[in-house]
Amino acid sequence: MENEAPIADASLREQLCDESFLLPTGVPGVFGYGRPMVLALAAVRQAIVDAWGEPTMTVTEFPAVMSRATLTQAGYVASFPHLVGSIRALPAGAGEPEADGEAWEKALAATDYVLAPASCYPVYPLHSGKLPAAGALVQVTGNCFRHEPSEDPDRLVSFRQLEFVRIADRDQTTSWFEQGREKMRQIGVGLGFQATVDSASDPFFGPARRILSAMQKNDGSKFELLTRVGKRDDVAVASANSHLTHLTRKFGIHTADGEEATSACVAFGLERLVFALVTQHGTDLRDWPAGLGAANTAGTGRP
Ligand SMILES: [Zn+2]
Repeated sequence: MENEAPIADASLREQLCDESFLLPTGVPGVFGYGRPMVLALAAVRQAIVDAWGEPTMTVTEFPAVMSRATLTQAGYVASFPHLVGSIRALPAGAGEPEADGEAWEKALAATDYVLAPASCYPVYPLHSGKLPAAGALVQVTGNCFRHEPSEDPDRLVSFRQLEFVRIADRDQTTSWFEQGREKMRQIGVGLGFQATVDSASDPFFGPARRILSAMQKNDGSKFELLTRVGKRDDVAVASANSHLTHLTRKFGIHTADGEEATSACVAFGLERLVFALVTQHGTDLRDWPAGLGAANTAGTGRP
């Protein structure tokens, strides 16, 4: 999801903190979640899974931490070095540095671990080699990190994504991507949003492409579901991304016929969807659209 020009939306943040949706942790963009947020996230996630309706999907979850080698292989580190969170720790045999913090900081070294910037990256290397004839269809939920600190509550540093990923031959992926883009729009409608779907530049292809993004905006590789969050009208709460062979080539994924496979994903930003629901339907979960049954039957949602 691309980011708009930052406008610190203190009123939404204060409202979400006052109503115990968000629990401050002392650093920008990282929050704990109180009861209404916990209920809302679960309800929104389930509503999307139900609405997506592909029963043959492989269901997966991945943690916030992923393989540095995989993210580098995917091209993300080269394209977005400023967004990546890298984990440093004391190397084996480092001894015991002074406990004052400074010596400890200096003794830290890079590890095999980074923080996942999108939940779908760990899925691709699992499919290296030959796909079955029907290709792969994966639901993935993950915790993500992108180092873009902001006081705006809709620009979290640590957030959750629900993604649907298709890896298959070109025709299968293309038709899935077109249907997925429409399902993404329908899910926005089902959540009671005033929402639009618009094309955008694709983050999978890096800064050089970003420069060209104005020209390439309509190349059909990325579409975002835009709706009102706080004071902003067009915040991306979900995106449909066609990667063509960008990732399958890097991970050596082939179709059953031995052709180069293609991939696409549709990603939902769960926190942003909740913030959009709060903006457009209020903080009382009972007032939210009927599809969010779990939230509606869970009382006021207040702690
Ligand atoms: Zn993805």
